[in-house]
Amino acid sequence: MRETDAVLQELRDGNERYVQVRGGMLPGAGCQTMPAHRPRAVVVGCSDARVPVEQVFDQGPGSLFVVRVAGHVLEDAALASILYAVRELDVRLVIVLGHQACGAVRAALAGISDEALRPLVDPISARLARAADAGQTEDQAIHANARAAADEVSAFLRAIDPERAAHVSVYCAVKALDTGEVTWLDREETV
Ligand SMILES: [Zn+2]
Repeated sequence: MRETDAVLQELRDGNERYVQVRGGMLPGAGCQTMPAHRPRAVVVGCSDARVPVEQVFDQGPGSLFVVRVAGHVLEDAALASILYAVRELDVRLVIVLGHQACGAVRAALAGISDEALRPLVDPISARLARAADAGQTEDQAIHANARAAADEVSAFLRAIDPERAAHVSVYCAVKALDTGEVTWLDREETV
């Protein structure tokens, strides 16, 4: 059996267990209708497998509307996803969650020039070039990248829907990989 087949089988088995044990945990599940979609916050995270958003904040299913892109690069569809949560689901809190040892930030710092990776690396490089506090260390760059993403979310919401944006708070934070602790970073909190 190929390694990928074994992994796929693990995931199939995992879903069977999930359905048996936790499938009905979603608020409203088990009724005749679909469970309501009422997330309490948007979290814009990195794709890094070591930063599973719901677990990091100890939240159950249905609580968080999660947008994950490596380095939390915010292309149009990601921004539109955030707008959907704010406008259609009435979410008032957006959190950009960066993390220690982010491979996407490392790639930008290393000046990776792979053409296929440019849509990921270039926006991060541009954020770091603009940030006065990007500093010299990887951790400083990771903080600056998270702050820049939060600023992008704020600017986008203000531009598209200023009335609604006035009621939305945008925070940013960084997760340590060793302890799991989330450190909240200073920035303008309200859009
Ligand atoms: Zn990352």
